Amino acid sequence: MKALQYVKVGAPPEVREVPLPEPGPGQVRLRVTAAGACHSDSFVMSLPEEQYRAGYPLPMTLGHEGAGIVDKLGEGATGVEVGDSVAVYGPWGCGRCIQCAQGKENYCERAAELGITPPGLGHDGSMAEYMVVDDPRFLVPLGDLDPAGNVALTDAGLTPYHAIKGSLGKLGPGSTAVVIGAGGLGHVAIQLLRTLTTATVIALDVSDDKLELAKEVGAHFAFPSTPEAKDRIAEAIGTPSVTAIFDFVAAEPTLELGSALRGTESDLVVVGVGGGQVGAGILAAPYDATVRAPYWGSRPELMEVFALARSGHIRVETETFHLNDAAEAYHRLHEGTLRGRAVVTP
Ligand code: NAD
Ligand code: ZN
Ligand code: ZN
Repeated sequence: MKALQYVKVGAPPEVREVPLPEPGPGQVRLRVTAAGACHSDSFVMSLPEEQYRAGYPLPMTLGHEGAGIVDKLGEGATGVEVGDSVAVYGPWGCGRCIQCAQGKENYCERAAELGITPPGLGHDGSMAEYMVVDDPRFLVPLGDLDPAGNVALTDAGLTPYHAIKGSLGKLGPGSTAVVIGAGGLGHVAIQLLRTLTTATVIALDVSDDKLELAKEVGAHFAFPSTPEAKDRIAEAIGTPSVTAIFDFVAAEPTLELGSALRGTESDLVVVGVGGGQVGAGILAAPYDATVRAPYWGSRPELMEVFALARSGHIRVETETFHLNDAAEAYHRLHEGTLRGRAVVTP
């Protein structure tokens, strides 16, 4: 079968012919229907040799957003039937610790110790004709949701959903939420904020196209992401302080801007992996301002995200690429010219 693999540190990924994987005991094989390309894949592929080797094997099939049709059950695997249309819950855990018991496998306490990694971020992922999933509990029914249109909800929907849920109590009438980076995750975050809260939603980005998209999907305001954004925000809402900042970039300049926008009891929610630091000491921050760095989301939350897609509250903008052209999807992601999410179909 064909798979898009990261083969050599620093080189672009390649479509290669690899053996069809067999599901072992308890595992499930999917015939992949769609796979999403995430900026985190680009981040992993940007790591220098030494850091990369410490974390991941090579070659590795990319893709941690996946959907497919159940194709073959390994010995003893139950709970799904051949032919089911499913999405893959990516942040795999041990299934037994207190976090996993609550469906929060993204916060599994034993994953690192047991060497459990998400598909596409440690072992073979969804950018292939077939993929093997370790346990049926990592499969969430898609039902009549179109796989290509919704596969990105498994990360680009779930991650902002989990990030926003943690701040929901603060985002009541009169509040303001700022979304920095209106890309794959950010453009869904804007829709989630409009659906789940009464906050005024302000998007910041460096690209005019993304600012346009932000407004189309529901942002009340969209401004260039520069230090002057603070003044534009003050003009728009009457104060330079906001209730919550969701930073989907988290590089030095965005974290500096986000920190400067914080009001009393605000949340600065760091989702991006841009490598910036939240600097100033606790006394320099407004009273009771919180910094959070959430990771992905829980299994029940993924079901809630699918429910929001079914009811038409959220929709992922996608550009679709054939598996043969999957390297191009990452190239466009790297260039920053995608509208929404790049989705790869075999
Ligand atoms: P993306 O490339 O689709 O979107 C990034 C957006 O940020 C683009 O619209 C880009 O124009 C914009 N941008 C770049 N520099 C900016 C700046 N200085 N100010 C404002 N906007 C700027 O990326 P994505 O797939 O949506 O991922 C977003 C980030 O979230 C990445 O860092 C990714 O690694 C990370 N991520 C984290 C988690 C988690 O669980 N914490 C999960 C998934 C992705
Ligand atoms: Zn991701
Ligand atoms: Zn666990």
